[in-house]
Amino acid sequence: MAARKVVVVGGGLIGLSIARALAQRGSNDVLVLERGLLASGGTGKSSGIVRAHYGVPSIAKLSWNSVPTMEALGAEIGFRQVGYSVIVGDDNAEALEANIAMQQGIGIEAEMIDVDRLARMWPLMETSDVSAASFEPRGGFADATQLALHFGRVARDHGARIRQNTPVARILTSGDKATGVELTSGEVIEADDVIVASGWWSKQLLGDLGLDFPCDAYRSELLIVDAGQPLPDLPVVSDLVSLQYCRVEGAGQFLVGNSDHDAAENKFVDPDHYSNVASDTTVEKYAGKVMHRFPGFPDPSVTHTYAGVYDVPPDWNPVIQPLAAVQGLTLAAGFAGHGFKMSPAVGDLVADLLLEGDSTDPDIPASDFRLERFAEGRLLTSPHPYVGAGEMR
Ligand SMILES: Cc1cc2nc3c(=O)[nH]c(=O)nc-3n(C[C@H](O)[C@H](O)[C@H](O)COP(=O)(O)OP(=O)(O)OC[C@H]3O[C@@H](n4cnc5c(N)ncnc54)[C@H](O)[C@@H]3O)c2cc1C
Repeated sequence: MAARKVVVVGGGLIGLSIARALAQRGSNDVLVLERGLLASGGTGKSSGIVRAHYGVPSIAKLSWNSVPTMEALGAEIGFRQVGYSVIVGDDNAEALEANIAMQQGIGIEAEMIDVDRLARMWPLMETSDVSAASFEPRGGFADATQLALHFGRVARDHGARIRQNTPVARILTSGDKATGVELTSGEVIEADDVIVASGWWSKQLLGDLGLDFPCDAYRSELLIVDAGQPLPDLPVVSDLVSLQYCRVEGAGQFLVGNSDHDAAENKFVDPDHYSNVASDTTVEKYAGKVMHRFPGFPDPSVTHTYAGVYDVPPDWNPVIQPLAAVQGLTLAAGFAGHGFKMSPAVGDLVADLLLEGDSTDPDIPASDFRLERFAEGRLLTSPHPYVGAGEMR
């Protein structure tokens, strides 16, 4: 029997992980088309944080199922398993406990810790306004670009092909079936399956077919702060009191990102034309938060700033689905700011959906990730959301 021809549009973490999973499981005609260079979209800007701390069980489980891949690759992807903590004030203490209980219930290694233990782990941290904290020992951070390139290498080793600088102009259909893609060069590539893993740009590719994928491009600004002294291996922190997240970046430097998704500086933007530096207002605001939380830094200074763009559906959760409306067309996009940590398991899930017809993990029901949920008003949201932190957790 002739092999099924699969075209994956997008050479970021998600497209490459899908290509890797399909090729590893015997699909021997997989082609990835990337309009620029591999990992040049959201992937190249990722903070690379690894954690399973989510309020939506299926999202937490996708992240948890990805941890062994991070651990197995270790230094190859710069994985530093420093652990991950969430710290909250009074307003979020109950939600934190409920989320940790849910995570433990599905097998995730995470626990509540008392503030004294947090202070011992994090000697430079101000903890007087922290009411409750959790710790996930297998969390940490890694290099998203290296993980994407790893997926690309494995996919190629198993026979997949990758073409860079190859923009797809449109998806081709015949009746209600996808038949391939047309490149901006005019070249037509036929396929039995077209998988759209094009981040924010997926919206346009689907829109051309009359399919509505509600997804905004959300700009997020990051600061690199020099602490003024070498930093030991400190756990990654999601600080839901000050609404920031922080991790060590190299020797003595510190990466600081925003967890305040209502903040005015976080605007919906054109993802092909946005400022790659943080505004003065952001620098001032973030620096104030850092100095409040880490008064132990002897001589902090901002060394540089940059910005990236999240692909954000209305509930900040992805669509991962062979679409009902067009046979042979699968969408895997809308990972907002959390696609890195779950990318290994997302590739496996798409392979399950295409090769087995369903998810093989009962904690990850495929129905959670349907496109139709937006039109039906049945958003995928956490039962225990955090005050002020939007839908990110
Ligand atoms: C600033 C920032 C920080 C983040 N931090 C974290 C974090 O700490 N932890 C975490 O888990 N996640 C994080 N994320 C999210 C994570 O990085 C993304 O969810 C993930 O990288 C998305 O991968 P992707 O493959 O879906 O999209 P992308 O990496 O954007 O890949 C899509 C690719 O499709 C290509 N493409 C688009 N249109 C076409 C076309 N027509 N033809 C061919 N190719 C096309 C693009 O060029 C792009 O390379 C962060 C993201 C950002 C922006």
